[in-house]
Amino acid sequence: MSTLLNKKDFYNLDKNDIIELLQLDSDSMIDLVKKANEIRLKYRGDKVYFRGLIEYSNICKKNCLYCGIRSGNKNFIRYTIQDDEFFDAVKFAIRERYGSIVIQSGENTSPAFIDKITEYIREIKNISNNKLGITLSLGEQSFETYKKWYDAGAHRYLLRIEESHPELYKKLHPQDGNHDFAARYNCLLNLKNIGYQLGTGIMIGLPFQTIEHLAEDLIFMRDLDIDMCGMGPYIEHPDTPLYQYKDDLWPLKERFNLTLKMIAILRLMMPDINIAATTAMQAIDPMGREKALQAGANVLMPNITPKQYREEYLLYENKPCIDENPDDCISCLDARVQMVGYQVGYDDWGDSAHYFNRKKL
Ligand code: SAM
Ligand code: SF4
Repeated sequence: MSTLLNKKDFYNLDKNDIIELLQLDSDSMIDLVKKANEIRLKYRGDKVYFRGLIEYSNICKKNCLYCGIRSGNKNFIRYTIQDDEFFDAVKFAIRERYGSIVIQSGENTSPAFIDKITEYIREIKNISNNKLGITLSLGEQSFETYKKWYDAGAHRYLLRIEESHPELYKKLHPQDGNHDFAARYNCLLNLKNIGYQLGTGIMIGLPFQTIEHLAEDLIFMRDLDIDMCGMGPYIEHPDTPLYQYKDDLWPLKERFNLTLKMIAILRLMMPDINIAATTAMQAIDPMGREKALQAGANVLMPNITPKQYREEYLLYENKPCIDENPDDCISCLDARVQMVGYQVGYDDWGDSAHYFNRKKL
């Protein structure tokens, strides 16, 4: 067992410590995961919080080199969910006693889009009697737009930095003036200043990425003092420029194990944050999300997007659950959570304890 795991406090792990933990072999990795689970139970209890994920639109003005719904990909149909379908999904979440929903979308900064989201946030608060928590994941927007949505009632925002190393960020995005590391970082600062619970994250196993980058990503998240994290393996998509590097990537199994280690180490470093078990984990291993829960994650985001749109929100190959309706998924989810030793936190926003601790509320 690594002697690092005997530490009393993991907040100050340095880059070399993190690299040592990321390189643990599969036997020692079990000790890391066990330790992370202990810390998770101590600081966040045994609850798993559901956020019903609505993939609102795949229209995107960006062209990230890894993403299947990038604006340059013309090989699929663009959609935006209609109002009645959107509210059917919201009502489903209320009925199933999910504590929260996440509205996610390709990036759109048009006034019509901004107004529509504002209207939706107000209406969700209204029809749920303020019972449903709202997380947004709608990309880079102006300070004013973030503020407008916050004032309307959204309280958490997820904006992955994707890769915290500016040089690597550059290699993963077109150099067209529309994909700028500093601008994205500034969005994170704005979100925090406005008062959102701040979530970020990265992809693991990207072309050109090294273990050193991953260690620095964890330090980046600690130093930004985030409240929530969503990180998952990078999975290649054939209609993207980065697909040409598919033979140089770490094998899927390794990307998966590295993601588990990243989750476990982050849980040790930041015991009171929320960490999501992401869908991309399930794309690699049918039990992927459950394994992430056992490594320190405490949030699940069941997809409640209407079935007819799911095939058009293909960020990567083999995305799971695209041929299921929301109801098909829900019955087994509770059992799956219990099977790995946790309880679903029904009717609970499941906010990040770290947010309240850092705000001294
Ligand atoms: N457009 C918004 C944004 O980029 O912040 C939100 C939606 S975007 C589809 C959500 C996340 O999908 C991104 O932050 C990215 O990390 C992830 N993603 C995109 N392409 C991916 C891929 N090929 N493999 C794994 N995750 C991917
Ligand atoms: Fe658009 Fe987000 Fe995909 Fe980038 S990751 S192309 S911003 S949907």
